[in-house]
Amino acid sequence: MKTTYPTLTLRRGKEESLDRLHPWVFSGALTRMPDDIDEGTVVRVVASDGRVIGVGHFQIGSIAVRMLDFADTVIDRDFFAVRLAEAWRMRSALGLQRPDNNAFRLVHGEGDFLPGLVVDLYGDTAVIQAHSPGMHFVREIIADCLAALDGPDIRNVYYKSETTLPYKARLDPVNDYLTGKAETDIAVENGLKFHVDWLRGQKTGFFVDQRDNRALLERLSLGRRVLNMFCYTGGFSVYAMRGGAELVHSVDSSAKAVTLTDANIDLNFPGDPRHKAFAEDAFKYLDGIERGDYDLMVLDPPAFAKHRSALRNALRGYQRLNAAGISKIAPGGILFTFSCSQAVSREQFRLAVFSAAAQTRRKVRILYQLTQPADHPVNIYHPEGEYLKGLVLYVE
Ligand code: SAH
Repeated sequence: MKTTYPTLTLRRGKEESLDRLHPWVFSGALTRMPDDIDEGTVVRVVASDGRVIGVGHFQIGSIAVRMLDFADTVIDRDFFAVRLAEAWRMRSALGLQRPDNNAFRLVHGEGDFLPGLVVDLYGDTAVIQAHSPGMHFVREIIADCLAALDGPDIRNVYYKSETTLPYKARLDPVNDYLTGKAETDIAVENGLKFHVDWLRGQKTGFFVDQRDNRALLERLSLGRRVLNMFCYTGGFSVYAMRGGAELVHSVDSSAKAVTLTDANIDLNFPGDPRHKAFAEDAFKYLDGIERGDYDLMVLDPPAFAKHRSALRNALRGYQRLNAAGISKIAPGGILFTFSCSQAVSREQFRLAVFSAAAQTRRKVRILYQLTQPADHPVNIYHPEGEYLKGLVLYVE
């Protein structure tokens, strides 16, 4: 069937990346940026010779269309129902929903062929984030399809897009439940319990993307003195406790994060004197400790580069932070260091850490090279979807 969506035409030769299934149409690739199409509308994209490339959500900005399909497809409830069912089928194959694990990402934007949409699952509550006006407009349909999914038994759907939608689109999104209302905020990850504050927390309330890396840390924690820097909800701290750490110190500049970390330790290890949390700036804290105070460290800062323009400063920031960590860790220490900036490539991050190591002149070896877990899949046609980079270092 031929769709009746408004048509946008590509300039000559600009169909190349789309023919390779890259899901973004940049505004410069269009013959004209339309002023008569509302943001969030489904549009048909055609090549200069009139050949239909596919359909996608239109928006004003450098990315003008986020492709939903590379055919003349009708974008209706069925379309989303099928894509969401496919997303669930993959998580189900990964064995992420178990009695001892019910927190994971169900939809990872382009990685699930649903650009602009993120859905994290916490028990029977799904938290949706729209990153595009198009996904904002179909939020009710998405919520409906989620509740109807055969398998995960989603009872509550919370919409949280006040900070993720383009501000200029003036959509005035309201964070609220679209379906149900959660009775508990406790989710389970690898048998550990966490309060997830989707109402007020960062992102969807929890960083599910560190699940596998936390499990690795647990295996290396026995008898170690652990510093979890940028702890947020205390994810790494709780795993270190279960791994048999001698002591665990959690640090975050946000007092709210420190309270949340304490609450999560309490949920799993009530009254355990091995843990302490501090509200302090990372650089100040690292400055105030001695070499040897800790022999296992986690440095998981917020994205230093939110945009390409901030790249140089970000790389300098990573270098400075890692130099501080490498210089202060005990001999024989293990350092987990991360970057979640999409604008920073794996090579650039590794180079920043290399420069940091060289600055300290300590003997440093790379034990593991980490990335995002399988529930944050990278669409092979959209390499930009790979964002989480980590190195585990052994410092003599
Ligand atoms: N490691 C966490 C996620 C970290 S998110 C996890 O596994 O869930 C980044 C955290 O860094 C936020 O909680 C933020 O409050 C904190 N932060 C930002 N700037 C900081 C600084 N200069 N010093 C310490 N913490 C900081």
